[in-house]
Amino acid sequence: MLTNQIISWYLQNKRDLPWRETKDPYKIWISEIMLQQTRVATAIDYFNRFMHQFPTISDLAKAKEQEVLKLWQGLGYYSRARNLHETAKTIHTKYKGIFPKSHKDILALKGIGTYTAAAIASFAFNLPYAAVDGNVYRVLSRLYGIEKAIDSAEGKKYFQKLANETMNNARPEIYNQAIIEFGALQCIPRNPKCEICPLLSTCYAYSNKLVEQLPVKSKQIKTKNRYFYYLFLSCKSRFLVEKREIKDIWKNLYQYPLIEYDKAISTDKLIQTIEWKKLFGNQNLIIRRVSGEVIHKLSHQNLHTVFIHIEMNIDSLKNKYQIIDFSEISDYPFPKLIEDHLNNIILNNT
Ligand code: SF4
Repeated sequence: MLTNQIISWYLQNKRDLPWRETKDPYKIWISEIMLQQTRVATAIDYFNRFMHQFPTISDLAKAKEQEVLKLWQGLGYYSRARNLHETAKTIHTKYKGIFPKSHKDILALKGIGTYTAAAIASFAFNLPYAAVDGNVYRVLSRLYGIEKAIDSAEGKKYFQKLANETMNNARPEIYNQAIIEFGALQCIPRNPKCEICPLLSTCYAYSNKLVEQLPVKSKQIKTKNRYFYYLFLSCKSRFLVEKREIKDIWKNLYQYPLIEYDKAISTDKLIQTIEWKKLFGNQNLIIRRVSGEVIHKLSHQNLHTVFIHIEMNIDSLKNKYQIIDFSEISDYPFPKLIEDHLNNIILNNT
């Protein structure tokens, strides 16, 4: 009954999305990974560009990692793009470019967790695995009045079991899509549209005035503050970059020379630090511009960033950094923070 109501709501309200017009597991996989980190409207553009450049798994497998990261630029969570690439290579070699069809084999692929495996298995192959994402947690917790924390191991297990039981085994593909869409459009986090909800009469949270309290989360993850001083060291149209190779955010993306400090400091103090001296020795440099603080928010980090522009003889640092020209920036993947700064410079020089 409940499943039929959700499916019937879905058939009348669903959005037309490019990855909904297909049963191709490759396309579904890419869209699901993109949707884990961005809004649908943004994902559509990225998805279309990605499919244009890598129409098949084998095209993706044969690409250079730098190309994949460049296409992912701005989406964030770059480890997901690196995993996608790795997994495409696995499918290309181990499965001859054909996406595995069993839930067990899909789940064994790198970067594919319980939710994504269930989504691919059900959307592409109509297999009876309930895909439980944030939308589904919200809908089920409200409908059934469940107060178990959705971020606890116990809660996750409980909701997965409930979702499996609730799922209409005969139509897992449509049901999974329907309940996710229902959570995304109807039973939304703030001010859900209860008055026009087809499940109003059976909804526990609505009858018990618990809509705003559900779902329950146990922990609030603390946000860490980091202080980045990016040195934009340029000479005419050339400037210095480095590839981030450490195990941290933005692995294998490019950035300007960076001094990270444990607290905010003034430029006067920065030029007295060991890091600055290591880089420039006692060179007399003319600082052209110091930006105001830009706060770049990641999921659990706030990057307090200042850009310091110095024009200098950058060849003196070419052993430590890479020199690139403005005409080459489309070849390099940059974090959004650097991309925005570069765009500003281009804008101010045109
Ligand atoms: S009545 Fe409100 S809270 Fe309950 S399922 Fe519908 S939209 Fe969600």
